[in-house]
Amino acid sequence: MKLNSVVVGQFQTNCYIIGNKKTSGGIIIDPGDEAENILKIVDENKYIIENILLTHAHIDHIGACGKIKQLTNAKIFLHKDDLPLYENLKKQGEQFGMVFDDPPEIDNFIKDGDSIKFEDLAIEVIHTPGHSPGSVCFKIGEILFSGDTLFNSGIGRTDLWGGSTTELLESITEKLFVLDDGTAVYPGHGPKTTITHEKISNPFINS
Ligand SMILES: [Zn+2]
Ligand SMILES: [Zn+2]
Repeated sequence: MKLNSVVVGQFQTNCYIIGNKKTSGGIIIDPGDEAENILKIVDENKYIIENILLTHAHIDHIGACGKIKQLTNAKIFLHKDDLPLYENLKKQGEQFGMVFDDPPEIDNFIKDGDSIKFEDLAIEVIHTPGHSPGSVCFKIGEILFSGDTLFNSGIGRTDLWGGSTTELLESITEKLFVLDDGTAVYPGHGPKTTITHEKISNPFINS
């Protein structure tokens, strides 16, 4: 498995591209914006994108979904509880003066405990509500893609639609801090971290 990342859009979202060099299969996590820059990495690696995985449906994580779906015909995965946000992409855009078409339909609704098969990998779905109702983290082996749930020394904001601080803290302490200490954490914004580092030094969490 090869992991690439690119920072996209005005909210500086981390979009992750995971591929298998041997088979050329690939997946994209959170194509928030700048479809052309994401697809440049895809082309350079000669990946055929099979799946688009969404940690949640805020505009900065789904903005380029439509374009990428159009060009790759990849299947889109989202937790059902974020469908109202997803379907409101146009409205989310209006708040920032951005114009969007309606996003493409979701191909697969995912839930806690699901395992998405990609090549010889199993991608575990961990439902971590709090930042948004349908926020999830994706775990591949010892790597966690944490979306806007857990950041390097930070946590997701909970003042947006459907947010809950109680739920967010519960998600982090009960579902993420139980993972192996060495698990690498690749968040939706900012630098990567580890579960241990956040357990010890995250100022927002008393665990
Ligand atoms: Zn978000
Ligand atoms: Zn975000």
